[in-house]
Amino acid sequence: MTTTQPLLDIAGLTLELPGTARPLLAEVTLQVRTGEVLGLVGESGSGKSTTAKAALGMLPAGGRTEGRVTVDGTDVLTLRGEALRAHRARTVAMIHQDPRAALNPVRRIGDFLTERLAHAGVTDRRAARARAVELLGAVGLPDPARHVRQRPHELSGGMLQRVVIAGALAAEPRLLLADEATSALDVTTQAEILDLLRTLRAERETGMLFITHDLHLAAAYCDRVLVMYAGRIVEQQPAPALFAHPRHPYTRGLLGCSPTLGGTAADLRPVPGRPPSLAESFPGCPFAARCPEAEPECETWAPVVSPLEPEGGPVPNGPPVPAGEAACRRLPLAASVAPATHGATGASGASTASGASEASAASGAEAAR
Ligand code: SF4
Repeated sequence: MTTTQPLLDIAGLTLELPGTARPLLAEVTLQVRTGEVLGLVGESGSGKSTTAKAALGMLPAGGRTEGRVTVDGTDVLTLRGEALRAHRARTVAMIHQDPRAALNPVRRIGDFLTERLAHAGVTDRRAARARAVELLGAVGLPDPARHVRQRPHELSGGMLQRVVIAGALAAEPRLLLADEATSALDVTTQAEILDLLRTLRAERETGMLFITHDLHLAAAYCDRVLVMYAGRIVEQQPAPALFAHPRHPYTRGLLGCSPTLGGTAADLRPVPGRPPSLAESFPGCPFAARCPEAEPECETWAPVVSPLEPEGGPVPNGPPVPAGEAACRRLPLAASVAPATHGATGASGASTASGASEASAASGAEAAR
């Protein structure tokens, strides 16, 4: 069940690091509501993990940050000292790809959990031990009283990921950040872990930011999906709509190179080129060098995420269609944002993002006179 209250609210987050030619994150805006799973997809280096870490206040030191990150009403980027430690221990928890990296190989599973519980305020050793057994049972490990006495090498990868999830749940966080949390698991274990996370979400109404390279997994698991490229959000839609009607050329490229059941190698069409490094900057659309639909104007068009016209055009007298948003100057904008009197038109004759940008600039110039 979801509510309209944003649990995670990131607004215009930009992060610049010294010695880089472009921001690591550029004007990232997203919301995760209570009980919602928001998918974050994109190639390596697109800024997915950095965006998630912003919710923990774990941005790289020495960077220049603009924008706001709010979790459950708390302005995370202003937290310091004990307040920041309490936020990381109690409000938000992160689950990483490799559970073995999260666990000390020479310490017992019970020690890992009781430490987490101590950070969350459970300091009585006996109570923490009992709670650790409870948590292992809650994530579906059989014989949890035995597992608290074991060390990581005695458990399989799937069992260890359950242990890490139990640790993440120790403080009953409002928000879970799952960073490729199932990527290292075999498909059967992956399905079990996803089912577990789904159950926990339903029981606790936890919001989740779900980072994955696997677009088909995102389609099946998430409520909404955001696509990132070069530190920017380039598209967001409800999950079924994104995969049925991907709008941004990069999203279509990602789907074109994702294997499907029954497909052949010949069906795969790689996105040309490679993801940009932080040493590369862009005067216009960052995807222009790889985009099969690029025009000369794209080289200087400053990307802006805009609400889109629904695929196939607006439905006359019908209910509103959730069309999503994208940052591409060639896509037709929703009627509510398309400039009514400024006549930029795309190939379809509809107003486009470039038209909106130009109209906005024109009205700004008019106001300045
Ligand atoms: S703005 Fe141009 S280069 Fe960028 S995604 Fe759209 S068509 Fe491609």
